[in-house]
Amino acid sequence: MKPLSEPDYQLSMRTSPRARADERNQGLRSLLVHRLRDAAKAVVRLPNRTSIATAHSGRYTVHCETDNIWFGLPDWGEEIECPGECGQIFALEFAVFSAVPAPAAGAAEG
Ligand SMILES: [Zn+2]
Repeated sequence: MKPLSEPDYQLSMRTSPRARADERNQGLRSLLVHRLRDAAKAVVRLPNRTSIATAHSGRYTVHCETDNIWFGLPDWGEEIECPGECGQIFALEFAVFSAVPAPAAGAAEG
């Protein structure tokens, strides 16, 4: 049995850049998508090089599976409307939040 269906594999390859190669994770992708419902997906992600501690919604990008395009995340909400040809409304299905690194001691609060 394949770990990913063909549509999930294709979407994962489009939305996940290869991790920077090192001894531990050579060639691994940073994100694998497992389809929970049989419907087109929009994947929101923050570029790996962007600080997760300070990123605002404007730094996140959205990939529309139907149009195979990326566009900026307008703001955080429960729905996203694709500005591409499909004009599809996507509703939030799943989210993964990552721990924010603690600020360095003595750093000013913002
Ligand atoms: Zn679209």
